[in-house]
Amino acid sequence: MKFGTKVIHAGVKPDPSTGAIMTPIYQTSTYAQESPGKHKGFEYARTKNPTRSVLEANLAALENGAAAVCFGSGLAAMNAILQTLKPGDEIIASNDLYGGSYRLATRIFGTWGLVSHFVSMANPKDIEAKINDKTKLIWIETPTNPMLSIIDIEAVCTIAQQHKITTCVDNTFASPYLQNPIDLGADMVLHSATKYLNGHSDVVHGAVITKDQAMADQLYFIQNAAGAIPGPQDCFLVLRGIKTLHLRVRQACENAAQIADFLKEHPAVDKVYYPGLPSHPGHEIAKKQMRYFGGMVSFSLKNDTFEAAANVLAKTHFFTCAESLGGVESLIGHPASMTHASIPKAQRLEVGLTDSLIRLSVGIEDIDDLLEDLKKALG
Ligand SMILES: *Cc1c(COP(=O)(O)O)cnc(C)c1O
Repeated sequence: MKFGTKVIHAGVKPDPSTGAIMTPIYQTSTYAQESPGKHKGFEYARTKNPTRSVLEANLAALENGAAAVCFGSGLAAMNAILQTLKPGDEIIASNDLYGGSYRLATRIFGTWGLVSHFVSMANPKDIEAKINDKTKLIWIETPTNPMLSIIDIEAVCTIAQQHKITTCVDNTFASPYLQNPIDLGADMVLHSATKYLNGHSDVVHGAVITKDQAMADQLYFIQNAAGAIPGPQDCFLVLRGIKTLHLRVRQACENAAQIADFLKEHPAVDKVYYPGLPSHPGHEIAKKQMRYFGGMVSFSLKNDTFEAAANVLAKTHFFTCAESLGGVESLIGHPASMTHASIPKAQRLEVGLTDSLIRLSVGIEDIDDLLEDLKKALG
């Protein structure tokens, strides 16, 4: 099955009880049993819910995995993965990580006894210096936020396999339409379904897709035992959003590519960060591992001040100032004062996250209106 068919059909069948074409929202906490222990595979909705099961089957197919396990948010999904480890275990993660992932690894699991190393994965060989016999997991995020750096997934997974270390790729920024880490050697894929998978900015949801069933079984155990499950209505909304994933992401990528070209030539703009630009240091790797180059674009201003950036944010009309990404509507953000405000200035300058850096989540509006909007805002 090709991707554009999978989004609609994989794991989805007319509802067995009524024939409903669209997977119903099974808004129930429990299920009737014919006699004690004799049931149709559903006992209690923390353990299993039919709407959630359909979404899990669909997600497994989209990422070419054995199974998927859904959670109440992307971070709840990551939390479950880290709960498969033991105190004293070590993980190696990319140093340009989603802030919430960094906070979870250090402030929750750090005190619990997990040791996290954050390294640049620009040169995958550098990872080896941090590997020892306690290293259990390598965590990759690509493209990164907000600098849109690219990590070579296949190269990192090859090193991990040589040392028998599990790998997980946070594939939120790319979506399964653009990049399938399991095909490149990863053991697990994490999604904040809040972003491109749902795509309509009306749900918080997360999922893990695994290469083999054993890892999924461990996560199903945690899903049930710790209970950070998504509700059936949210599962329904993610499932509905996924049906247009390929159309939305393709359009967002086309718009983003045109916006990157426009920004590159604009006299007020200093640097443009977009993996689709041939000048981007990760361009060749992105070409190898991604279908298109994504809907996220970051850029800095020649007048590198908070004020100049704030002025641009204040003037856009279709780009709304907000956190998050991956919805049909365009968003604009200022990482230094919003998502990355807690990172010390010296540290953020090291990765190029300057005072004027602006991040766009490009939506699927008409490109002429988006370009006009940016033209006006940049003055
Ligand atoms: C948003 C996000 C998360 C966290 O997901 P939530 O659904 O907000 O918990 C993790 N990783 C990346 C890359 C994200 O953008």
